[in-house]
Amino acid sequence: MDRVVFLGTAGGRASVFRYARRAGGFIVYLSGSLVHVDPGPGAFVYLHQLSIDPRSIDLVVLSHIHLDHSSDVNAVLESATDGGKLRRVALFAPRPAFEGENRVVLPFIRERLAQEGFLREGLELSYRGVRVKAVMKHTHHATDTYALLFNDRLLYVSCALYEDRMLNLYPKGVDLMIVNTTLYRKVVPIDHLTVEDAYRLIVNLKPRKAVLTHFGYELLMQHDPKELAMELSKRCGVPVVAAEDFMEVEL
Ligand SMILES: [Zn+2]
Ligand SMILES: [Zn+2]
Repeated sequence: MDRVVFLGTAGGRASVFRYARRAGGFIVYLSGSLVHVDPGPGAFVYLHQLSIDPRSIDLVVLSHIHLDHSSDVNAVLESATDGGKLRRVALFAPRPAFEGENRVVLPFIRERLAQEGFLREGLELSYRGVRVKAVMKHTHHATDTYALLFNDRLLYVSCALYEDRMLNLYPKGVDLMIVNTTLYRKVVPIDHLTVEDAYRLIVNLKPRKAVLTHFGYELLMQHDPKELAMELSKRCGVPVVAAEDFMEVEL
């Protein structure tokens, strides 16, 4: 059954590194393959806690290189390849994840990959029945960051400053939209989405279902994500849920 499992739901530096909730990204079971998206801090441990054998991972995808999305990428790839013995795992990520002084994937880990894919706006990459399209390059603290569409069904709106361009570039009516809703309200100069931005995206693009995740510290301390999601469901006429650590959502 195609589904998403959230390893962690904290987002942004304060929330993740003060451990307000777990981090670690999410797992997608899609068309018989297993995809790990944004393996942030703790991802390797949470996989084991959920009895997910990392050796069953086919594809790892990074939306961008910030550590809340990438810090466990080497540990996850090392275990997914069984220490380099299995050459069957692919990695799709922005180019700076692989190259340059801020690269997050170690050169000897790159050698273990079956395939590398460099995300670019408008480009669709594929591996083992999973198509990943970088539908838009986001504005996010001058770091190459992409919104990702999986098999035309699942839209992952990674961290971003809201732009109206999203409404043109993102597909309408997907089965599931995951929105990294880090802020309650806009805080200048932080390039993250707010609850109101999530509203604009959901009400205009009308996915069949939406999940809010990647909650920032202030949002978690001062608000109840469940209530925020319930309010959005009513206002948008679309089922919206707030993700919790280890929650599973059917696709
Ligand atoms: Zn983030
Ligand atoms: Zn980021």
